[in-house]
Amino acid sequence: MSDRPGLPVVELPTSGGCADVPVLKERGQREVFCGLTGIVWLHRKLQDAFFLVVGSRTCAHLIQSAAGVMIFAEPRFGTAILTDRDLAGMADANDELDRVCATLLERRPDIRTLFLVGSCPSEVIKLDLAKAAERLNARVLPRVRVVNYSGSGIETTFTQGEDNALKALVPLLPASDERQLLVVGTLADVVEDQFARLFRQLGIGPVRHFPPRRSTDLPPVGPGTRLLLAQPFNGEAVRALLARGATLLPAPYPFGGEGTTAWLAAAAAEWNVNAEHFRQVTQPLHERARKGLDRYRATLEGKRLFFMPDSQLEVPLARFLHRELGMQLVEVGTPYLDRQMVGAELPLLPATTTLSEGQDVERQLDRVRAAKPDLTVCGLGLANPLEREGFATKWSIELVFTPIHGYDQAADLAEIFARPLLRRERLTV
Ligand code: SF4
Repeated sequence: MSDRPGLPVVELPTSGGCADVPVLKERGQREVFCGLTGIVWLHRKLQDAFFLVVGSRTCAHLIQSAAGVMIFAEPRFGTAILTDRDLAGMADANDELDRVCATLLERRPDIRTLFLVGSCPSEVIKLDLAKAAERLNARVLPRVRVVNYSGSGIETTFTQGEDNALKALVPLLPASDERQLLVVGTLADVVEDQFARLFRQLGIGPVRHFPPRRSTDLPPVGPGTRLLLAQPFNGEAVRALLARGATLLPAPYPFGGEGTTAWLAAAAAEWNVNAEHFRQVTQPLHERARKGLDRYRATLEGKRLFFMPDSQLEVPLARFLHRELGMQLVEVGTPYLDRQMVGAELPLLPATTTLSEGQDVERQLDRVRAAKPDLTVCGLGLANPLEREGFATKWSIELVFTPIHGYDQAADLAEIFARPLLRRERLTV
């Protein structure tokens, strides 16, 4: 924090580091989950929405095993399965889809927004879900709104499912000139509540979230809207919000004590919060987060870390693990390097880091083997083979299923990375 009176300024470098280093760009075979995975956390967030995947049995299997099947409650996701007859063009998939949606909406009057989620098979047979949504809306609006987006795994990574879903909602947001803070990206409800208390204490508001908890409670957007990003993977949705007049508040992401303070400071400066007041509110929490991290420092400090490109959370998490826990960054790979989304993070990575974008999986695995990192963060498909070769791994997907944002979750976030190393220590004793 700055010692100067006035606005809160967190003194972090805004240039240098990895901001200007050459990026290793790879365009080869990739090992990632598809965007359907986003339904796992989106269906928990948007409590009055239903996600209907229009896909194959493989898609149904993926989403059911990733989300788990609730036997005590009606799930808010499902799959309209395209059969061989649909895929061969022998049946009218549109008729079948309309019938499935009608039955679903009749049986589930609680559904207020129905997402038709495209998949690889629906895209391959060119099933036009935008047209299907239009057709269905003519029948079911205003009780239900039907929206479509793609969760297909063709040329995407798994967190793009959320980006596509949010982008599909942007045209539906009401217009407003009201001055407001809009937090963009799914946060666990518990984290959202913690941030709400902090924003209130700082005198920042009104604060709204996108996505909201209820799909009928869509936030307005316009020239008075300031965007504070909670997730780095919603680039397309953010660009759509900017096109509607919103302004982006550049900030690191709220991971760890430092990241959370810098994130809050970006909003506090915009709301002219007094620096001393900001310090009084945030410093005890930042201090507590720092103490929580102490428990994991001995395990993580000096350890060499390799991020394979998967969740798009790689850059901010690498910053947190390096700056707050002393980990050494060997390579930070990310599926897409979107400078608009991670521009405030790149100067915080040491310039010695190899920054890579995209994937050529065999070449990247060769770099892992050559570098022999202490910990490799990667997708599920790569973790088991790497473990068999003797590497400690962490599944990146866990990072989107677990509350990891904010001061109170900083130690939990550190623990996620410490756990595989501690387990290894125990096994070798
Ligand atoms: S959308 Fe594509 S990648 Fe995802 S489960 Fe279905 S077929 Fe597989």
